[in-house]
Amino acid sequence: MDFELNDDQRLFQRTLREFVEKDIVPVASEWERSGRYPAEIVERFRQMGLFGMTVPEEYGGLALDRVSFALVFEEIARGWMGVAGILGSHSLATWMIAQHGTAEQRDHYLPDLATGARRTGIALTEPGAGTDLQGIRTRAVRSGDEYVINGTKTWITNARHADPLPVLVKTSEETPAHRGMSVLLVDASSEGLTISKDLPKLGYKGTETCEVVLTDVRVPVSRLLGGVEGRGMQQVLSALELGRINIAARAVGVAQCAFEAALGYSRQRQAFGQPIADFQAIQLKLADMATEIQAARLMTYWAAVRSESGAVASEAAMAKYFASEVALKTTMEAMRIHGGYGYSQEFVVERLYRDAPLMAIGEGTNDVQRLIIARALIQGTATLGW
Ligand SMILES: Cc1cc2nc3c(=O)[nH]c(=O)nc-3n(C[C@H](O)[C@H](O)[C@H](O)COP(=O)(O)OP(=O)(O)OC[C@H]3O[C@@H](n4cnc5c(N)ncnc54)[C@H](O)[C@@H]3O)c2cc1C
Repeated sequence: MDFELNDDQRLFQRTLREFVEKDIVPVASEWERSGRYPAEIVERFRQMGLFGMTVPEEYGGLALDRVSFALVFEEIARGWMGVAGILGSHSLATWMIAQHGTAEQRDHYLPDLATGARRTGIALTEPGAGTDLQGIRTRAVRSGDEYVINGTKTWITNARHADPLPVLVKTSEETPAHRGMSVLLVDASSEGLTISKDLPKLGYKGTETCEVVLTDVRVPVSRLLGGVEGRGMQQVLSALELGRINIAARAVGVAQCAFEAALGYSRQRQAFGQPIADFQAIQLKLADMATEIQAARLMTYWAAVRSESGAVASEAAMAKYFASEVALKTTMEAMRIHGGYGYSQEFVVERLYRDAPLMAIGEGTNDVQRLIIARALIQGTATLGW
């Protein structure tokens, strides 16, 4: 058993950390407050090849191992979780196209998605259906060599930059409903595709999250992911496992940043003639934070390693659930340690506190993760132990 990063992963982590310290940390708070799009950071992602992290090398991607994939999200979220979102659903969708796409779809999209010349996201959620994806109402009806799509998707991250946007649709009314679901790759220029509004958010700024309306959008049959109807739910669920590792890693990054801020502040803030770090009540909080963050990190890397060799429904669910709860708790504790200053926009913990809850919701709520874990335990498919 080896708990160390290998040399390549260590070097990659150092490169990411230097990039985040230089190009993200100095601008994060100001840019998130102004609502400015972080175009320069996107350009740096491009230069570093990060848009290709889940794209096979033959298409020009980095084809990162899964621990390195987690490191990307951990390190970037340590600087600014919002911009990690720019890579989040992109990497999930590129993986899905690489894994499930036809040869023509892979050849057509992956080289440009790998360089960031094209970007993408994923459109699953609807106003009336999030957890219950089988309840979606977006329909695609076959008409000759095309599908005609009608419906509304909501909470779609990267929607203004996605080209193509993979959209989960119903292609038939078969029961059970998942048998009638498919993914269509919708090009941004498609007539009838409208980004109807940007959704105002508590945190997770730096990347847009939008409502998308599809009105008689026509896409060629060749844009049916994998070329066979009825596989959409299975394609999406496999991609969400990867997405949950990305969310877990982001949660670790946010929690780590909160811990570092709290540790630094507690050493420097004086009360009753001494640094508050000398008070045992503060020390206990710091000890709990560090211990829980390290447990979340190890669980995230564990799920990442396991995912190299197949499906990891329960492992990814455990990592996402645990790490996001740690992020929620740690950001609150960091705010307490900062006293009144933690509530001020001049200190980073205020942003971290607003960013943390998304990790308990996105890629499936934490209650849903607990149900996935419980189901696997009862069915005997969950892996506990090493
Ligand atoms: C900032 C942000 C970005 C997002 N980005 C994207 C994106 O890019 N693409 C995309 O498709 N979606 C995206 N989402 C949507 C996100 O995935 C959903 O919000 C999430 O899956 C929950 O769905 P919902 O909001 O419809 O909640 P609901 O499904 O309505 O859930 C409401 C509550 O009911 C509970 N619940 C539901 N079903 C069950 C059950 N069977 N058992 C027990 N409890 C249950 C949930 O746990 C939750 O507490 C984003 C959301 C946010 C906030």
